[in-house]
Amino acid sequence: MNCRHCKKLLKISFLNLGYSPPSNAYLSTEDLKKPELTYPLRLFVCDNCWLVQTEDYADAESLFSPEYAYFSSVSTSWLAHAKNYTGMITERLGLNAKSFVMEIAANDGYLLKNFVIANIPCLGIEPTASTAAAAETQGIPILREFFGNALAMKLKSEGKQADLIIGNNVYAHVPDINDFTAGLKTILKPDGTVTLEFPHLMRLLEYCQFDTVYHEHYSYLSLHTVNRIFSEAGLRIWDVQELPTHGGSLRIYGCHTENNRANTTSVQSILEEEKSCGMQKLETYQSFQKRADKIKNDLLLYLINKKNQGKRIAAYGAAAKGNTLLNYAGIKPDLISCVYDAAFSKQGKYLPGSHIPILSPDLLREQKPDILLIIPWNIKDEIMTRHSYVSDWGCKFVLAGPQFQIFP
Ligand SMILES: [Zn+2]
Repeated sequence: MNCRHCKKLLKISFLNLGYSPPSNAYLSTEDLKKPELTYPLRLFVCDNCWLVQTEDYADAESLFSPEYAYFSSVSTSWLAHAKNYTGMITERLGLNAKSFVMEIAANDGYLLKNFVIANIPCLGIEPTASTAAAAETQGIPILREFFGNALAMKLKSEGKQADLIIGNNVYAHVPDINDFTAGLKTILKPDGTVTLEFPHLMRLLEYCQFDTVYHEHYSYLSLHTVNRIFSEAGLRIWDVQELPTHGGSLRIYGCHTENNRANTTSVQSILEEEKSCGMQKLETYQSFQKRADKIKNDLLLYLINKKNQGKRIAAYGAAAKGNTLLNYAGIKPDLISCVYDAAFSKQGKYLPGSHIPILSPDLLREQKPDILLIIPWNIKDEIMTRHSYVSDWGCKFVLAGPQFQIFP
């Protein structure tokens, strides 16, 4: 396989998590009677442009683009993040009723609704029917398409170019990152700004966040690599911010290369930090598998011990990252009896691979588990605050990584 960005032959394995089903393929009771497809979940790193990427396999696009059950508005901290961003960017770019904002992967309108309220014209691009419909009920215009340069050319020919293009947690999920970036260039007005947020590979390496690896997450990005991809597409990163979201993300600000905006100092300082963390050295990537294995083994040891003591063990949050961890560890319902999740769309279904049933958190008070493994560690504070009552019966929260932790 060749690198999805620079096309150089990929030879260096970064992480091998065995075989795993698509992480968003939640199963119905009926599905449990059928065979389940699993695919190799393996990452390579390109020793030329340092793009970390999933291995290619047959039918990837048809398999990993359909029923996406995740509704962004379920997370209150993510809603607050979106609202803060809208206020900040509106002021920073001086957006008003004459501006035009586009969001790629607009999901259920969790973000664009703030622009609708502020009377700033906007358009969401969202291929998933269920989330797109939820956005439309809030008065947000939605184009039900996948974004790429072909769609961008069509929009441009209709006179639709944006002062601001937003892409939150979509850039790492596109198979053809070069085509996506070319599309950004196409629909950006001459003085326009692109902001993209994506998990920072530097944090994945630092905290060993191997459970953020799943099939639909094609690229694991550093500023160094994105800078290079942007530059080859005729775009320039002129500012970057570090965010706490998803365990450590970057928000990059892009413009056309020839735009006269000056780069802020943070661009150079994060590029230098990445370099000093060894992100352009093979050893950094080649030592990762051992660290991931230790987290998995420590979790299994703990769970098996507690199970043998007769404890009732459940999990909280049916997030995609949970499926990676549970499937890599080979955990099944005999060890973790269920997972509680607030999303109605997931309740009554089963996690792919592990077949752990997903239940409403309303049942927590009734079922009183002794241990709750928190799956989406990035929102652990929100979960522990919202469900602090579980301590009434002595229930402990447990985190698998980056270090094994028990609360309280
Ligand atoms: Zn490459």
